[in-house]
Amino acid sequence: MTAPDSLPPVAQRFLRYVQIDTQSDPRSPTTPSTEKQKDLGRLLVDELQAIGLPDAAMDDFGYVYATLPSPLPPEEAARLPVVALLAHMDTSPDESGAGVKPVIHRRYDGGVIALPGNPDVRLDPARQPALLDHVGEDLITSDGTTLLGSDDKAGVAILVQLAADLLHDDTPRPTVRLCFTVDEEIGRGVDRLDLDRLGADVGYTLDGSGIDSLSVETFNAARAVLTVRGVMVHPGYARDVMVNAVRILAEFIAALPPTEAPETTDGRAGYLHPHHLAAGDPSEASVEVILRDFSEDGLARRKDLLHRLADALRLKYPKAQIDLTIEDQYKNMRAYIEAADPRVITFAHGAAQSMGIRLTEQLVRGGTDGARLSEMGLPTPNVFNGGYDYHSTFEWNTVQNLERSLAFTKALLHYWGRHGA
Ligand SMILES: [Zn+2]
Repeated sequence: MTAPDSLPPVAQRFLRYVQIDTQSDPRSPTTPSTEKQKDLGRLLVDELQAIGLPDAAMDDFGYVYATLPSPLPPEEAARLPVVALLAHMDTSPDESGAGVKPVIHRRYDGGVIALPGNPDVRLDPARQPALLDHVGEDLITSDGTTLLGSDDKAGVAILVQLAADLLHDDTPRPTVRLCFTVDEEIGRGVDRLDLDRLGADVGYTLDGSGIDSLSVETFNAARAVLTVRGVMVHPGYARDVMVNAVRILAEFIAALPPTEAPETTDGRAGYLHPHHLAAGDPSEASVEVILRDFSEDGLARRKDLLHRLADALRLKYPKAQIDLTIEDQYKNMRAYIEAADPRVITFAHGAAQSMGIRLTEQLVRGGTDGARLSEMGLPTPNVFNGGYDYHSTFEWNTVQNLERSLAFTKALLHYWGRHGA
C-alpha cells in the first residue's frame, strides 16, 4: 500500500519501514545475521542525512549511528548528559517478515477484524483485550500473512521522526545519539554495539509494548549445572554395585518444585527451569538449570534449594559423585541503573507527568538490549512504542499510539533539558 498523505509523518514512515524485510536468523554466525537488515540501515542513513544529520552512518555490522545536536550553546549542552535513543531494525524469526502489506483500519469499532490476506487471522478483543483500550483509533495490522514488524520498526520510525521534528526546535534538550541496532530478536543486539562510538551517558530503547509503560526490571539470573558420576558395570553383574547416574539425575529434576517453573508462574514470581540435559548415561549425567528471580533474596533462596537437594542425594547415594556448580549470569537491570544514574527512571516519570500521563513500570521476564547495556554501564530503560502481540500475524499498533510514544520521547528529552544539568 502507499501511505495516505492524511496520516501523520511518523505513521507514514512506519508504513514504509515495515515493508522492508529485515528478519534476523539465529542460525547465521555473521553480524548482521542477515544482509537484508542493511537495506533498512542504508535507507535510514539516507533519510537522516536528508533531515540534516550529516554524521549519520552505518558500520560494517549494520549498526546505524547519528547525532541530533543540542540546540543549547556548547558550554550549556556540556552540562547535560548525552542521551542515547535506540531501536532495533530486525524482526523476529518466529513469523515471516517478507512482503509485509500493512493495512489501516480507520476508527476501530471494538469488533473482530478478519485480516484480508488470511481470513483465519482475526483480531479479536476476546483474545486480545488491549484492543478495547484503542477503540476509535486507527489500527495498523499486516494483511494476516506476515508479522507487522511494529517490533521494533515503530521505535525506528519514532526516532527518525523525532530527529526531523527536533532538529530545528530550540527547546532546551541534551545532545542525542541515535542508534539503530541489528539482531536484537536473536539475542545479539548489543554484541557488536560500539559503546565508545555511541558516546552516551544514559540511554533508552524504544522497544516496549503497549502504551505508557517503562521497563526497568529484569530477572536476577544464575545458571546451575548438576553433574552426577555413577558407577558403571555390566547390567548382568550390577546388583549392589551399579550406581546409575541417570536415575539420580531424574530424582533431582523431579524434586524441583513444579510450582516454581516458567510454565506455572508469571508477574513477579521467579523460577527454576531445567532446560538442558548435557549428558546422560549411567556413568555420567548432568542437567543445566536456570534460576530467575526479581529479588536478590529470592535468587539466593533458589540457589540454597539446589544445594540442599544435592546434599540430600549425596547422603542417599554415597558412592555417586555429585557436583553442583552455580554461577551468576546477570542482575536485575534496576540494580545497574540505580548504581549508574537513577534519573533515567525518575525523569521518565517526570516527563510523563508533564504530559498528564502516568507510566506503569513493567517487569520483563526475559532479557532486553537495555538490560545488557545497563550492565555494560549505560543505564537504559525500555520505553513503550505502542505495539501489541509481537512476533505474530496478530501484531498491531495504532497511528495514535505511534504519536503518543513520539510525544513522550520528546517530553523526555525536554525534561532532561530542564533538569539534567
Ligand atoms: Zn523488540
